[in-house]
Amino acid sequence: MSEVAGSVSATRRLLRRLRDIMAGSGTAQERLERIVRVVASEMVAEVCSVYILRAGEVLELFATEGLRPEAVHRTRLRVGEGLVGVIAATARPLALADAQAHPNFAYRPETGEEVYHSLMGVPILRGNRVLGVLVVQNRTLRHYAEDEVEVLQTIAMIVAELAASGNLVNPLEMAQSQGGGMLPARIAGVRLNAGLAIGLAVLHEPRVTIRQVVAEDTDAELGRLRNAVSAMREAIDELVEASREYGAGEHHDVIETYRMFAADRGWVMRIADAIRSGLTAEAAVQKVADDTRTRMMQISDPYLRERLFDLEDLANRLQQHLAGRPLSAAWAELPPEFILVARTMGPAELLDYARRRIMGLVLEEGSPTAHVAIVARAFDIPVVGRVDDATRRIEAGDIVIVDGDHANVLIRPSADIQQSIAAAVEARSRRRAYYETLRSTPAVSRDGIAIKLMLNAGLLLDLAQLATTGAEGIGLFRTEFPLMVRDTFPDVDDLTEYYRRVFDQAEQRPVIFRTLDIGGDKVLPYLPHAPEDNPAMGWRAIRIGLDRPAMLRQQLRALIRAARGQTLYVKFPMVAEVAELERARALVGMELAQAARERRKLPEAVKIGVMLEVPALLWQLPELCERIDFLSVGTNDLLQFLFACDRGNPRLADRYDPLSAPMLALFREIIAHARAAGTALSMCGDMAGNPLEAMVLIALGFRTLSMAATAIGPVKTMIRTLDAGAVADYLGEIGARPDHSLRPKLEAYARDHEIAL
Ligand code: PEP
Ligand code: MG
Repeated sequence: MSEVAGSVSATRRLLRRLRDIMAGSGTAQERLERIVRVVASEMVAEVCSVYILRAGEVLELFATEGLRPEAVHRTRLRVGEGLVGVIAATARPLALADAQAHPNFAYRPETGEEVYHSLMGVPILRGNRVLGVLVVQNRTLRHYAEDEVEVLQTIAMIVAELAASGNLVNPLEMAQSQGGGMLPARIAGVRLNAGLAIGLAVLHEPRVTIRQVVAEDTDAELGRLRNAVSAMREAIDELVEASREYGAGEHHDVIETYRMFAADRGWVMRIADAIRSGLTAEAAVQKVADDTRTRMMQISDPYLRERLFDLEDLANRLQQHLAGRPLSAAWAELPPEFILVARTMGPAELLDYARRRIMGLVLEEGSPTAHVAIVARAFDIPVVGRVDDATRRIEAGDIVIVDGDHANVLIRPSADIQQSIAAAVEARSRRRAYYETLRSTPAVSRDGIAIKLMLNAGLLLDLAQLATTGAEGIGLFRTEFPLMVRDTFPDVDDLTEYYRRVFDQAEQRPVIFRTLDIGGDKVLPYLPHAPEDNPAMGWRAIRIGLDRPAMLRQQLRALIRAARGQTLYVKFPMVAEVAELERARALVGMELAQAARERRKLPEAVKIGVMLEVPALLWQLPELCERIDFLSVGTNDLLQFLFACDRGNPRLADRYDPLSAPMLALFREIIAHARAAGTALSMCGDMAGNPLEAMVLIALGFRTLSMAATAIGPVKTMIRTLDAGAVADYLGEIGARPDHSLRPKLEAYARDHEIAL
């Protein structure tokens, strides 16, 4: 059997017969009926059936060879129901020797299928949308081979042509089922990059419609593939060159990784093999992309799954080159300021658009660690991801609002909402311009208290914000970020080079490097990590560092080499006991001794600090402070452990308020201990970047706050209107109240005392 379905010549014969049917006369329904007959005979199956998706998520039997004819247009299954429904729901093939033993088997008496034991089915896909399901069945317990599944998938591509033609099901039927086509709508998603934007929707249409699946001339198709691949590689090289315009940075690494994918011979060879089986170049690219997607969707590693989007991006580009219309041709028609809507997008594509007037991005897929999100951050483009059905629900030319701050997308908003958002966008850019004027204004309160404002950074690009914000240095450099966009752990030379660039760009301002805080949700593809029930409390940060000292030592070695004659600040994340700090410090000592032996230029000084984010440390403060130079409070983690409240769970986002008696008491204690020991103290948790919270922290005694670049302006503005002593007195009055939150009282106080929040 396998010889029939799997061999190249048999596949070509089958494809030729199908091509003749497609090119022949008759209605779409008649052609579908002919197709199922041919497939059943060529694949030696007693049954071949096609189910087509109709409005309301229903799969209807449209044509069959082998099941009872009266079941056609009568048998209907919901998506998820029965084996056919499971194939549609998962968009993945199924091949079962004993289908009736499967827990999802749903028996339909009108079909007479009880006599067929084995079943192989594949989704009928168009641009990753399921249009239906193609099934063959056999009476015997037949074990379908993998190449037979592949042949059926290829046939499904041809059936997809028919299904998408609009001649089987009126396209309006599907459009109507989406409901409220022209009404305003709000769709929630996931924040991939903060910010607010409004503009006209442009649908990014990376997919080329494949007009011909079966090739006339295989050699000619192979030639077309060769030409398109070399044109694409040239275009990507140009893009890599162009990306240098924006300076060195992670987006550049991202594009380089992407270039590596494009140069992957295995990928091109798989496409060539698919052409040799009888497909056109376009269909072959599509088939390889579909196969890869099916395989990769089973991978749970989020980083590897993100790489799938890069591969799809590449497949789209290759399709564009095959079609002879590289993306840039469409740009002439782009409106001057637009919101881009896409199912998914690779980093290179966004980089292309970033050079145009793109205001915001809406994606159906994506996660904050996706390369596209990193590029978006670099260009300050608000992005909301995982917006269900965005490309179907948003029409080109619709007015769309991307609210990255609240992870919302508003489609066709009413005129008053448009006005208020446009006003908010405008006010934002005015405020931003105003904050830039404060760049060199000192952050000193009305009662003369000077506050050191520093930046939280994670990418080289963030360092440019030192100049625009006037921040005094980097209070937290999250060193794991740059590693998350790479495929391998860099060697010491690479890391050294990277950290040198950080030192250079900081231009003598202090940079506090935090050693790797990986684990939890921050996955490095090259560090195998078993799934954990509680990853936030699992094997992460310093725990990995101490268990795998080689990695931590490499990082320390690179930092020591990069610091050459400057002060090196290193802080360790997630320390839970003084003994851990001692072990980490010993590693620093070893690396310094080694560097001295190698006669390298040593740092002028090495300052060691600890993130205070695990509550156990609170009862070791005197012993801790004796041994460190500085202490940074990381409230993002400290709060989650103190209140037993997952920081990533949106349902708990407002459950507990740090502006409440327990936290204030805790902060007072930390400040008292640090002062008594003469240990420098700062706060780098996100709460330091909210003006109201910063007001309280300063009143309690914090003098160094580290925050995101966008928070510096608002916090500085607040500080300049603050009488910290008066707020301290007020906190003395209300600070111990057992209220759920002191926020309303503090807000009222700020209002009454004209503190700019
Ligand atoms: C924190 O926990 O407050 C912190 C700054 O670290 P991260 O957010 O990187 O965990
Ligand atoms: Mg933390």
